[in-house]
Amino acid sequence: ATMREDRISRTKTVCTYCGVGCSFEVWTKDREILKIQPSPEAPVNGISTCIKGKFGWDFVNSKERLTKPLIRKGERFVEATWEEALTLISSKLTGIKEQYGADAMGFISSSKCTNEENYLFQKLARSVYGTNNVDNCSRYCQSPATAGLMRTVGLGGDSGTMEDIAQSDLVFVIGANPAESHPVLATRVKRAHKLHNQTLIVADLRKHELAEMADLFLHPKPSSDIVWLNAVTKYIIEQGWADEDFIRARVNGFEKFVKSLEKFTIDYAVEHTGLTKEQLIELATTISKAKSMCILWAMGVTQHLGGTETSTAISNLLLVTGNYGRPGTGAYPLRGHNNVQGACDFGTMPAWMPGYEPVESDEVRARYEKAWATPLPKKPGLNNHQIVETIHSGKIKGMYLFGEEMGLVDSNINYVHEAFEKLDFFVVQDIFFSKTAQFADVVLPAAPSLEKDGTFTNTERRIQRLYKVFEPLGESKPDWEIFQEVANSLGADWSYSHPSEIMAEAASLAPLFAGVSYERLENWQSQLWPVKKDGTSTPLLYEDQFPFEDGKAKLFPVEWREPYHPGEEYDLHLNNGRMLEHFHEGNLTYQSEGITHKVPEPWLEVSPELAEERGIETGALVRLISPYGKVKLRVWVTDHVKGKELYLPMNTREESEAVNRLTSSYHDFITHTPNYKEMSVRMEVIEKT
Ligand code: SF4
Repeated sequence: ATMREDRISRTKTVCTYCGVGCSFEVWTKDREILKIQPSPEAPVNGISTCIKGKFGWDFVNSKERLTKPLIRKGERFVEATWEEALTLISSKLTGIKEQYGADAMGFISSSKCTNEENYLFQKLARSVYGTNNVDNCSRYCQSPATAGLMRTVGLGGDSGTMEDIAQSDLVFVIGANPAESHPVLATRVKRAHKLHNQTLIVADLRKHELAEMADLFLHPKPSSDIVWLNAVTKYIIEQGWADEDFIRARVNGFEKFVKSLEKFTIDYAVEHTGLTKEQLIELATTISKAKSMCILWAMGVTQHLGGTETSTAISNLLLVTGNYGRPGTGAYPLRGHNNVQGACDFGTMPAWMPGYEPVESDEVRARYEKAWATPLPKKPGLNNHQIVETIHSGKIKGMYLFGEEMGLVDSNINYVHEAFEKLDFFVVQDIFFSKTAQFADVVLPAAPSLEKDGTFTNTERRIQRLYKVFEPLGESKPDWEIFQEVANSLGADWSYSHPSEIMAEAASLAPLFAGVSYERLENWQSQLWPVKKDGTSTPLLYEDQFPFEDGKAKLFPVEWREPYHPGEEYDLHLNNGRMLEHFHEGNLTYQSEGITHKVPEPWLEVSPELAEERGIETGALVRLISPYGKVKLRVWVTDHVKGKELYLPMNTREESEAVNRLTSSYHDFITHTPNYKEMSVRMEVIEKT
């Protein structure tokens, strides 16, 4: 090798974008990224990546990166030393605790950060500060899926691996758009459909790429999924197509469940969902004939008033048809961010310690109290939604948030911004001066994934290591180091010198990760939880039993409620979600030249019928108005959407375009996930073309 080649480093990392969890090598020279090189050894993606994983890294060296702590002085922010920032944080946080108690703080965690960082953040909130008010962004996405699965099969994660999905006889995708949101997973589904004759069914409001190739595409009325799911389940039972052996041996609550389905006849479903009798019967027949079925779902299911109930109905259907515990079967709630699974797994949830053990359990708390040598609060804390409400009611005075653009991604952001303004003290820790940071009192500069060691857990429950590619830029630091410094400034005595020590501690305390270790995760190796003490992974859940006392799953009756509607004048239904090129709110991908060149701004999808009715064309400028706010947008006329249904990607160049200026504060009844997908608006035309 020449001298020049000697300076090229190759470092393995895990993608920072979606929950598929692709891994690859980053080839670098100094701070320059030369290329992203996938490897056949990568357990999830092999040699594939998508546009974001391949080209979405410019943000790491962006001039916009925060490199020094900032402290608010009136309307301005001034650069400060770490010491000044930490002294201020510790005095303010101590003051809030002394005056109002520990529950006057809210801690918001990040599912873009590592497992170790999430573990440490909840430890900071619980053991150093003394509150369970700690939550993460799964509150905005998959909490309803987790809740629906916990109450039926006992664990909130995907039942198996992507390999299992590829092997399945029937893949059923509900309210998810994997081709754009989970591209490498979608490629596997497409391949299995083509090469192995896998049946594909899609239920969605939009005819997206997988919907186009599906053997059966269903377009039910918005927010009617529980109705058709229950009706099809009932029909399958009535036809004698249920898996009776499986139910007898492995499921509780069948009789009560059958009773609960009484009103969900096929006729009732036709009336309320807009699907035809033929479609519903074809669906029931296809499911019954399949040797194995797995169901994939995402925000199109969860972000509703009845998100948990619909997720439960999906799990009920899988149980009735015996589709758990075998390869090719099971539930696959697709995780959005790279580490949304890990953030939940490692305890940044108000009612759960790491590994999904309840904070209310005396036995669980005693174990942590002994290890951490400090008493822990027993009462479950507040979730993101409740934290915002409690700031408004004056009982929460301070917030510490990292790696989360809550000021854009929470629903009804005008209301959220008002809450931020009421805080006595607000710490925001991020790699950029985010929209949320504008409301902060102190902004701490953090390091992105390429500048830290750690682990991420993908949607399959697969834990993978990422290795540090670069040193943190300027004075920025990995989040775990910052938490350690904040904890110590508050009187703790932490001395972690590497994330491996944090993982070793988590593994020693949470039985779910008993055998997880950095040695077992070297290079391309990975582990899927539950991991036994000897290091054995569990790629497929529920093979022998469900994690309930008697080992049996539970059928859980669910009801349907009419969707929320704010009034006649709001005559259009606005759906929102992701697009392939930009990720979420776009904070990272708008920093990537290649991606922004391709897609410079979001657009509003309008159906040809509606465009004709309103006399508008592609390029028209319109204003959308909901009871909560208004936004101005350019139009794209496309048959992806039908009739009075609109679609808006959630990425935002300008804060004024943010879809969450329109969304309400209504939420799923059980998990408080906002009902982002149940949105009625009206449209005013500003320019016709
Ligand atoms: Fe990254 Fe997801 Fe794309 Fe893989 S599919 S490269 S994990 S964004």
